[in-house]
Amino acid sequence: MALLPILKYPDPRLREKSLPVEHFNDELRQLAADMLETMRAVPGAGLAAPQVGHLIRMIVVSATPNGQDFDDSAQVLVNPRITHQDGHQLYNEGCLSVVDLYEQVTRAQNIEIEAQDLDGRPFNFQADGRRAVILQHEIDHLDGILFIDHLSALKRNIYKRKLKKLAKEGLDD
Ligand code: ZN
Repeated sequence: MALLPILKYPDPRLREKSLPVEHFNDELRQLAADMLETMRAVPGAGLAAPQVGHLIRMIVVSATPNGQDFDDSAQVLVNPRITHQDGHQLYNEGCLSVVDLYEQVTRAQNIEIEAQDLDGRPFNFQADGRRAVILQHEIDHLDGILFIDHLSALKRNIYKRKLKKLAKEGLDD
């Protein structure tokens, strides 16, 4: 087991489209275990493989259907796909790769997901509420989409300016 370094915006790898997983091997299982350990250590509600520099379609999420985090029902989803979505909800989101920013994002309220487990077996389920938000956020990462892309250009630019200022202050130290 190992804690993995998490890439931070604006790292260009966070903007890549990740590739489907084709080989369900020990290497994949090890990465999933390390991602779960990293997510719990932070702690975070979810983590996508590209956030730790692996451009493959795998995510881990900690949210359970009843909204309780950090228990044994943390899930690994390989090649997850949203097959249906409806309704909408506004939720205050943050991201382990986007430091110091929490903003309201509009997401679908109900989603249906198809994915594979670590042995390649397909499964599907429905999610709503907070769990649906986390899943949509993490699946976005697999296509190089960050939650700031769902914000207005104005809010995004304010954040970019803030980051530049922080970087400059860092250099002055
Ligand atoms: Zn994120």
